[in-house]
Amino acid sequence: MIHGFGVRTFTAIGIVALAAAAVFLLSHDVQTTLVTLVGGIAAVLAAAGTSETTVEEAPTPPPTEAPVTGLGDVLEAIVEPILIVSGSTVAQANAPARALLGGHIVGQDVRLAIRHPAAAERLVGPLDPAVSAPIDLVGLGTLDQRWQMRVVQSARPNGTPGQRIVHLIDQTGNYAAERMRVDFVANASHELRTPLASILGYIETLSDDAGDDPGIRNRFLTIMDNEARRMQRLVEDLISLSRIEAEKYRLPDRAVDLAALIAEVRAELAGSDVMLDIAPAVPAVAGDRVQLSQMLHNLIGNGIKYGAPGTSVAVTLRQDRTGMVRLAVADQGDGIAAEHIPRLTERFYRVDAGRSRAAGGTGLGLAIVKHIVERHRGRLDIASVVGTGTTVSILLPVHAESTANPSVVIKT
Ligand code: ADP
Repeated sequence: MIHGFGVRTFTAIGIVALAAAAVFLLSHDVQTTLVTLVGGIAAVLAAAGTSETTVEEAPTPPPTEAPVTGLGDVLEAIVEPILIVSGSTVAQANAPARALLGGHIVGQDVRLAIRHPAAAERLVGPLDPAVSAPIDLVGLGTLDQRWQMRVVQSARPNGTPGQRIVHLIDQTGNYAAERMRVDFVANASHELRTPLASILGYIETLSDDAGDDPGIRNRFLTIMDNEARRMQRLVEDLISLSRIEAEKYRLPDRAVDLAALIAEVRAELAGSDVMLDIAPAVPAVAGDRVQLSQMLHNLIGNGIKYGAPGTSVAVTLRQDRTGMVRLAVADQGDGIAAEHIPRLTERFYRVDAGRSRAAGGTGLGLAIVKHIVERHRGRLDIASVVGTGTTVSILLPVHAESTANPSVVIKT
């Protein structure tokens, strides 16, 4: 036997020869028969050269590595708390479990380690495999933490119940996000219902006799118009907010000349006292022009709304020491007490709801600004002195193709 060719090769050559004989019997054409014979044998040899030698010379699989990772290593690699419970005693606990429940829990009764009425039965009582629903635990660790506990029972080879694996999953973030969503829907509905109820009330009054008096009718129509516009502003802000959130992960990349945009917004707010202090040749920022315009409207608008009558709003634009573009909007108003500042960018958070509504505020302006700044990978800072005024500063990254002008005087 020729080295490298196996039984299958010779069988295949035999079949090709038979096929050639059949061709000859049917066609009596020597040329076609020869083509079939030579072509078939060539194809078989070529295939044998690739497949059979490959099979014979196929590298043996590398020896599988003996597992070196023990259960303890696996447990320590998991970032969530895991406990292994034997009977009612904690046999093992990984570092996150020890950090949450205390280093002493190994060897302790699991009901002491996880002191929770809802957990006790699931931890040591008979475990129904059909009921594997997780249990929600409140107050484990810090008071506001929420955990979900899942318990799985392993089985011994003889079928009797083995150790229990207790897995704690931190649900604090999910719970907070869910609560925020519920609060947001409730607040938005309330904010819309109030002007709507007012409009419906006036429509009813106008359709009675009051509608006949032109003075009353005009007064009511003006109120209805204001309320309808309030609803419109709110709906527009809600739409803006959801659009900006939807684009959260799409980095804006247009070169936006903030100095020109500030001048544009100032012209749109004609009639208000807005002072500009713009450094020469501030580089363009990487941004979304429409959103940056909305950000300027909201910030300058707040300065006008909450600034003291007769005072001006100062808008400054500079290139920061770090190379980013710094925008600051400062007013001379009542200022904001320190405890409110961290919450100002929450949706519908207002220091003085009456004043905000009277000035036409929706309570969403700074939430929109925060989302715009986040989308631009910028930074937002609110500084305020009660009785003096408020300054909102924004840092925005420079557009990649806009080089900073070295002649710019940087003052901080
Ligand atoms: P609003 O539509 O109520 O103005 P914002 O989200 O823009 O909503 O602001 C939230 C709250 O922050 C306002 O209701 C107001 O109490 C406070 N606030 C915002 N900007 C200023 C400012 N420049 N001076 C004083 N208070 C401010």
